[in-house]
Amino acid sequence: MNDIYKNEWKEYVDVCVVGAGHAGCEAALASARLGLNTVIFTVSIDSIAFMPCNPNIGGSSKGHLVREIDALGGEMGKNIDKTFIQSKMLNISKGPAVHSLRAQADKSDYSRSMRHVLENQDNLTVKQAEICDLIVEDNKVKGVITNTGTTYFCKAVVLCTGTYLKARCLCGESITYTGPTGLQAANHLSQSLINNGVRLRRFKTGTPARMDKRSIDFSKMEEQFGDERIVPFSFSTDPDSIQKEQVSCWLTYTNEETHKIIRANLDRSPIYAGIIEGTGPRYCPSIEDKVVKFADKERHQVFIEPEGLYTNEMYVGGMSSSLPEDVQLKMYRTVPGLENCKIVRNAYAIEYDCLDNGQLLPSLEIKIIHGLFCGGQFNGSSGYEEAAAQGLIAGLNAALQVLGKDPLILDRSEAYIGVLIDDLVTKDNREPYRMMTSRAEYRLLLRQDNADLRLRKFGHDVGLVSDDDYKKTLDKEKMIKDEVERLKSVHVGGSKNVQEFLEAHNSSTLKTAASIAELLCRPELSYEDLYVLDSDRPSLPNEVIEQVCIQIKYEGYIERQEHQVKQFKKMESRHIPDDINYDDVSSLRLEARQKLKEFRPLSVGQASRLSGVSPADISVILVYLEQFNHKK
Ligand SMILES: Cc1cc2nc3c(=O)[nH]c(=O)nc-3n(C[C@H](O)[C@H](O)[C@H](O)COP(=O)(O)OP(=O)(O)OC[C@H]3O[C@@H](n4cnc5c(N)ncnc54)[C@H](O)[C@@H]3O)c2cc1C
Repeated sequence: MNDIYKNEWKEYVDVCVVGAGHAGCEAALASARLGLNTVIFTVSIDSIAFMPCNPNIGGSSKGHLVREIDALGGEMGKNIDKTFIQSKMLNISKGPAVHSLRAQADKSDYSRSMRHVLENQDNLTVKQAEICDLIVEDNKVKGVITNTGTTYFCKAVVLCTGTYLKARCLCGESITYTGPTGLQAANHLSQSLINNGVRLRRFKTGTPARMDKRSIDFSKMEEQFGDERIVPFSFSTDPDSIQKEQVSCWLTYTNEETHKIIRANLDRSPIYAGIIEGTGPRYCPSIEDKVVKFADKERHQVFIEPEGLYTNEMYVGGMSSSLPEDVQLKMYRTVPGLENCKIVRNAYAIEYDCLDNGQLLPSLEIKIIHGLFCGGQFNGSSGYEEAAAQGLIAGLNAALQVLGKDPLILDRSEAYIGVLIDDLVTKDNREPYRMMTSRAEYRLLLRQDNADLRLRKFGHDVGLVSDDDYKKTLDKEKMIKDEVERLKSVHVGGSKNVQEFLEAHNSSTLKTAASIAELLCRPELSYEDLYVLDSDRPSLPNEVIEQVCIQIKYEGYIERQEHQVKQFKKMESRHIPDDINYDDVSSLRLEARQKLKEFRPLSVGQASRLSGVSPADISVILVYLEQFNHKK
């Protein structure tokens, strides 16, 4: 037990959530909404759902996560729909699998709004306190102790400590032992975790400087506008209620002058001077890394984004750094439009403790401590959306365990959340894990537009989605199915007005009758165009029409992927007994035996995704399991 001051005060609750960042908020709301007496702790109540880095929610694959969180009954989607200041659907010129919503948030509004939700949630108590110690008896968590020595006994704990554990911030030679933007770090809990057998490691991430808007010359930049018609993140948000005036973002570029200054000062970069111990995200590189690793690139994009409506702070996206302040000023002032920029907050890197690989079950419970669940950056991920998704699942599963129910585990064919958690649980991640569409092998099925059709049932089954919201999804599902069938049943022949219509749309004329569905498969014909040939159609909501068109236009691809999913599910359903002794499985390769003993996968499917386990090893395991079952 850590030697902190202990007072006599004891509280008895069901679930304790350590952290009120993007993960902690979702975890605490899920637990409280299932009726459990829940407490959420943070070192600073003023930093609830704080966005220490980019002022936006969503983007490629991250937009999918936000939609899935919403479909399951989480809060992030609703919160950004209330607090966004610009919204844009990305990748609209590509296929629906990579369409992804991204919204610029008013950061302080986002935090204030989430705080309001937490403070008014039944069964939930918000407490400003640092958790310094875990109480663990016989490998079961029993409670937590605060920095003031108060003990909270509980049945489950959810750790969502983000970038705060043993955090230190580096800006050139200046090192401060704080959390993000000077918030208090959490310096005690790491030792308590280590004392209880949990393995930790150091990760790092970085953020760019913030500039005073009045010191920026926007005439030298390209203005980036939001979409005319704004699409909400939440399936519960009425699209008409969020149409509003939006702010702009701005695009500019670094240049050879910028790169020269950076190269000349790499020795003063804590990253390149070897002062930083933690590993950073390759997919979110600092400007130093970009200049060194992509030396052939003449320029790098820089996005100037407003941090909110009531502040002049502008975020300099694409130029995160930990170079000293004097170098930062020189480098930023070489960027067109920033020649006279004034830095409001310096760029910096932050290092922190987080969980090492291989210690989590797919439910996000720690393998060696029953009742201890983990979510967010603490699990080795990076990003608000990745954090919120894990927080929701960790909080939900902690609550379900307290209620004596089975955990919710989504697999890779059901959700990006399933891909995220499976990768965090099975992969040997050596850097902060960031979601990307390329990670999801079944991404044509896991689109952001159908997250409700895929996940509302799960949310309703666990009690997070209301009967009303679930019924709306069932009604939508029926409308889609009926309309797809109708379009396949309505046929048109080669009459004069049909042929003229087709010619007018540069579409080949008909030799035989065709269904409206067949015509809809033609890229040059849209559902709206075909009204001329199909005027008896029912009037349907846009989101239903969107689904109908995707299901008809991509039918072949979707069927092929559904077939692949069948194969995948077969391997996922081949469970591996808990007590298997891999030393008994002869002809397993040494590396595979070591990995299997370390990770102890739950299914053959999971085993097949472990690095170092080959398809040949999987065949060996399958044969062994056959014999094993026969012997039983
Ligand atoms: C400087 C910086 C740069 C970043 N850059 C990027 C980036 O470029 N791209 C990207 O995708 N993501 C980036 N991130 C990460 C992003 O901010 C996080 O992914 C996200 O905030 C993680 O959410 P979380 O809920 O896991 O943790 P956090 O948002 O960090 O919240 C942690 C919470 O835990 C609380 N807490 C911690 N320990 C204790 C304790 N012992 N007792 C009580 N409360 C405690 C804190 O008060 C806080 O409320 C950056 C973060 C920082 C700090």
